[in-house]
Amino acid sequence: MVKSKQLQLDEISAQIINDNVCPELAAQATQLVFGDGSAEAEIVFIGEAPGKNEDIEGKPFVGAAGKFLNEMLGSIGMKRSDIYITNIVKYRPPNNRDPLPSEKAAFLPYLQAQLEVIKPKLVVTLGRHSLNCFLPDLSISQVHGQPKRVKIKAHTSTDEKSGKSLSELTIVVLPLFHPAAALYNGSMKQTLIDDFANIPAIIELIKNSK
Ligand code: URA
Repeated sequence: MVKSKQLQLDEISAQIINDNVCPELAAQATQLVFGDGSAEAEIVFIGEAPGKNEDIEGKPFVGAAGKFLNEMLGSIGMKRSDIYITNIVKYRPPNNRDPLPSEKAAFLPYLQAQLEVIKPKLVVTLGRHSLNCFLPDLSISQVHGQPKRVKIKAHTSTDEKSGKSLSELTIVVLPLFHPAAALYNGSMKQTLIDDFANIPAIIELIKNSK
């Protein structure tokens, strides 16, 4: 029987708990904030890590930055249930500090597995941490708004002996400024709104280039 995408996502979420990923973060957090939205979405948004509200509610982007994101989604005729949204790091870092490189690395295979299940047309990275997970050498201020094709390792099809990935998944990444940073910076806010407005045209381009 073919497993639904949602079921496969639920299994990845359970795997994070099973694998005891980042136990120090887990011990201080209220709960795992795995992801939210449609497993069938064409667009996946990826933020940095849950904040206080997300930690309490168990869902990404439910605070002020999430409200702003919802408004921008509305401006392109979309709602939260049309997209999938997650973070690189899935437990709240204490006092909202930046996630550590080791924490981002520990969660990356699970993020890649989420993308492998959903197979979105477009991955929108929010902020520099998320961008640099896929494109480590690029600066958000230089490449925001410019879609980039990226190859990522596929985790579900690995060679049993070597453990090496047998296939790659090509995704299109659109780097955007983080809505929390943009909220308090007028010119960055306008740039983010302008970049966001191009999402429908970028999706059309991707569909037509297949
Ligand atoms: N900022 C993020 O990067 N992620 C959230 O879930 C909330 C705020």
